[in-house]
Amino acid sequence: MPANGSSDSNGLWGFKDKTKMATLQQLIQPVQPKTDDTNNKVTVVGTGQVGMAAVFAMLTQGVTNNIALVDVMENKLKGEMMDLQHGSAFMKNAKIQASTDYAITAFSKICVVTAGVRQREGESRLALVQRNTDVLKRIIPKLVQYSPDTILIIASNPVDILTYVSWKLSGLPKHRVIGSGTNLDSARFRYLLSEKLSVAATSCHGYIIGEHGDSSVPIWSGVNVAGVRFCDLNQRIGTETDPENWNELHEMVVRSAYEVIRLKGYTSWAIGLSLSQLARAILTNANSVHPVSTYVMGEHGIDEEVFLSLPCVLGQNGVSDVIRQPLTEIELALLQKSALVMSAVQIGIIF
Ligand code: NAD
Repeated sequence: MPANGSSDSNGLWGFKDKTKMATLQQLIQPVQPKTDDTNNKVTVVGTGQVGMAAVFAMLTQGVTNNIALVDVMENKLKGEMMDLQHGSAFMKNAKIQASTDYAITAFSKICVVTAGVRQREGESRLALVQRNTDVLKRIIPKLVQYSPDTILIIASNPVDILTYVSWKLSGLPKHRVIGSGTNLDSARFRYLLSEKLSVAATSCHGYIIGEHGDSSVPIWSGVNVAGVRFCDLNQRIGTETDPENWNELHEMVVRSAYEVIRLKGYTSWAIGLSLSQLARAILTNANSVHPVSTYVMGEHGIDEEVFLSLPCVLGQNGVSDVIRQPLTEIELALLQKSALVMSAVQIGIIF
């Protein structure tokens, strides 16, 4: 810390008695008060592996230059803030604040929530959901209090259920509460396709929808390169009787999260990039299509009030449209089963 420096309540390093310094008075003639507004402020709650990977991606990809960090671990928060601020000369006018006080999040365009507790040994899914609901109860109302027009992007797991919980806790309209959902699963899928075909992942198209994780649903009917649908070349693609066993790719997608966690303890870079992509779509009003967790009651014969991933058009208002993919009977059944399972878990949540 500089000898004459101090940390103010915003977590910014301020210098005392600025106005009285003769050198400053000689150098700078104030004309107008400065404003803090950059019109692209993003709050990230949870400065763990996922939160910081998202922040780093957003800052270095130029998605935002205005970040507010919130966590309960004060030292970690301050350390992350300072470390990023020291990179200011390498970024484009980054403004980075950090505090345990939600006042710094005021007027955020987007609030990304990556705070959460991990599963304890022997802990049931419902028990984890309840513990994370209790965490969200301390976060979501404060975010909405300071940024009533914000769009929430939830990454904490189990992401589909916690997106529902956040929607309930926030009182925001459903199009402004989004779960990162299967945007990551779909990216993993496209990477594996690209490895198999030796074609860039950006040119391999395919969607994984439904529940993020184990029971996600790959939509084989839409997988294509340059508009050439694989299902037109191999009618049994994705089925158990497919002699080429393409479904192995989806199994690898599901396994790959566990594999990364086994090897490095957590996943971070890919989910960070995924969150950055979603934030960019919203901040630039892109109207681009991403598989994200959204309110799906009424879609694909789903009767439950649940959030699952479907391809959504994202722009400055959040989700503007849901794209209706034609699904096979098997895909529909899998999606509807996930909805039932999630609805059963949600019934047990105490708000
Ligand atoms: P982590 O333990 O590294 O970080 C979690 C952070 O949340 C910690 O810094 C902790 O202090 C903070 N936190 C806890 N309670 C808080 C509260 N009340 N207010 C503010 N901050 C609080 O965990 P991680 O590896 O970063 O993972 C975070 C979450 O993201 C987990 O739920 C994980 O399962 C999930 N995740 C989701 C995806 C996805 O695709 N959706 C991918 C990877 C991880």
